[in-house]
Amino acid sequence: MNRNRTTGLAIVAALSAALLGGCEAPSLGQLFSGEKTQASTEVSGQKPQQEEETNVVKKKQPSLEETIQMVDGVPTVTNPAELTVVVNKKRALPADYIPSDLVEPNVPFPFDEKVEKRMMRAEAAGALEKLFALAKEQGIELYAVSGYRSYRTQKSLFDTYVQTQGAEHAAAYSAVPGKSEHQTGLAMDVSGADAQTRLEESFASTPEGQWLAANCAKAGFIIRYVQGKEDITGYAYEPWHLRYVGTDIAEEIMSKGITLEDYFQQAETAQKQ
Ligand SMILES: [Zn+2]
Repeated sequence: MNRNRTTGLAIVAALSAALLGGCEAPSLGQLFSGEKTQASTEVSGQKPQQEEETNVVKKKQPSLEETIQMVDGVPTVTNPAELTVVVNKKRALPADYIPSDLVEPNVPFPFDEKVEKRMMRAEAAGALEKLFALAKEQGIELYAVSGYRSYRTQKSLFDTYVQTQGAEHAAAYSAVPGKSEHQTGLAMDVSGADAQTRLEESFASTPEGQWLAANCAKAGFIIRYVQGKEDITGYAYEPWHLRYVGTDIAEEIMSKGITLEDYFQQAETAQKQ
């Protein structure tokens, strides 16, 4: 019992700094069980069919109210596999949701372990490869720090917090299972070579952080948790947390400086007019 508690505390201590936004997951030795699959670079290529689908999605964007239902008392999204799914503290993913198309993007990672956090959904993984290639062309070196995180991993992390630090501390410092965007397989935390600014707000002022904010939309990513929008997103500023939404929506969100929640609100308002 005592030994477990000590181990738990050690894990918490090691991770507490990085956990404010529920971004970083521990390497709990949970190896991903699927075969290693490289994301096809074709995924990010221009496919007429995909563009068509994107346009359809844009025109028929369901409102946030239409994509939520109560499941065991928890407001849960009805569209977990959509590239436009909105997950936040008020909108959980189903506990049993595991993306069906997780692959490992062919990009640099700052660790060697074959853990699940290397993975992303296929389209997002292809887009990440495209983004990293673009960065490299321009002399910017990026690393993929943390991508997919299963409900199970998030739950064991959260439970460790509750057991060692109490429920209140857990709620403040770790995402509740199901409410981490990393479970969608569409998010990736990114850093430069400098470990000092990894998953730190100071990353925003590094050349890599600035490049990322200016260019991520070109590959279909947004900075999901932006400065000054904490009341809307529910999270502090996280200049390292990329979320894939596709280029059309990403360009609109990043050029307007809005959040994913704002985007849906504005789309809904526009449809009513
Ligand atoms: Zn993150």
